[in-house]
Amino acid sequence: MTQTHASRTDDLIALGDRYGAHNYHPLPIVVAEAEGAWVTDVEGRRYLDLLAGYSALNFGHRHPRLVAAAKRQLDRVTLTSRAFHNDQLAPFCEELAELCGTEMVLPMNTGAEAVETAIKTARKWAYQVKGVPDGEATVVVAHGNFHGRTITIVSFSDDPEARTDYGPFTPGFVSVPYGDVAALEAVVDDRTAAVLVEPVQGESGVILPPPGYLAGVRRVCDQHGVLMIADEIQSGLGRTGTTFACELEDVVPDVYVLGKALGGGILPVSAVVSRRDVLGVFRPGEHGSTFGGNPLAAAVGREVVAMLSTGEWQARAAALGERLAARLQSLPTGPVTEVRVRGLWAGIDLDPATGTGREVSERLMALGALVKDTHTQTIRLAPPLVIEPDELDWAVDRLAEAITG
Ligand code: PLP
Repeated sequence: MTQTHASRTDDLIALGDRYGAHNYHPLPIVVAEAEGAWVTDVEGRRYLDLLAGYSALNFGHRHPRLVAAAKRQLDRVTLTSRAFHNDQLAPFCEELAELCGTEMVLPMNTGAEAVETAIKTARKWAYQVKGVPDGEATVVVAHGNFHGRTITIVSFSDDPEARTDYGPFTPGFVSVPYGDVAALEAVVDDRTAAVLVEPVQGESGVILPPPGYLAGVRRVCDQHGVLMIADEIQSGLGRTGTTFACELEDVVPDVYVLGKALGGGILPVSAVVSRRDVLGVFRPGEHGSTFGGNPLAAAVGREVVAMLSTGEWQARAAALGERLAARLQSLPTGPVTEVRVRGLWAGIDLDPATGTGREVSERLMALGALVKDTHTQTIRLAPPLVIEPDELDWAVDRLAEAITG
């Protein structure tokens, strides 16, 4: 019997269910190919990708410049480990430090590794530079944070799904309400190494801090000799219409944590970027990663940095973001209880009577566009920055259709 098209999707999903751990609940689409803002499934159906790998695909799928950079490097050298130098890593560090307006880079692979690295940096800095008594350094975080999935990172999450059954947890973290500078100030003391904050809380549903919050965090950090660490893994590298979301409040953190789009949607590339007096605390052997800073990753990362250095992607995100914000006003109020937009990034809260975020995502998928729900009643839009204005309009029209059922 010849296989029907429908069974190919079903078969692959069943195969994944059987052999893959069930730590995700993807939409029932099996992607086979992708280009720009569009993906094609194994049945040959096309969908507009409005999630862009949670900002990992800021430049769309298989951007020709990024693919060319990867291919060039594939033909030269892909991996050396850090036992030897390679000719891509040093220029990558220089160019990324310049993009960030700072001095040093510590390359890693995934976002969670970069966050862990930033925490290690802050603790070492606290003991060596600030003079905190050994073993007593703390890091202040915000309620509703999402910084990744390691034991230490989930230790300071307040999401039961992320934490349940993973204890015992790593001590040394203090959590205060997001957006509340007074609450932050109340817990900062002479043992505080750092404040770790998302300039926009992406996983929480594109939660925007109140105006002045980031500037307030900066002020508290300055007054108390504390490092401000901005986790710009999802918000950074063009998404919000600026290179970094912190720029929207004219704030420069001490430490940037970057990931996702830094790998051009091709491979995992992350980094901690800071000044010499901060990242200079590391000595050989004190931290590392076999793959961190590999020449393939560095070559792709260099192309990402080169693309961002002209400002055109940021400008494009800003212009498309204004259009998105205006178009989202047309969504039916009632079914939609709140819309939050920053650059080309939106969180849309749905009234439960409309259905859950998952149900709306499934209805939208049937109409040819892909989004992902978060926290039950919210859907998040993070289209790739290559999306065309008419495609964005089309997407919002389909979304309105999906919401109204
Ligand atoms: N930090 C933020 C703000 C994120 O949004 C994410 C992932 O969504 C991470 C860290 C973790 O990145 P990764 O999944 O690459 O470990």
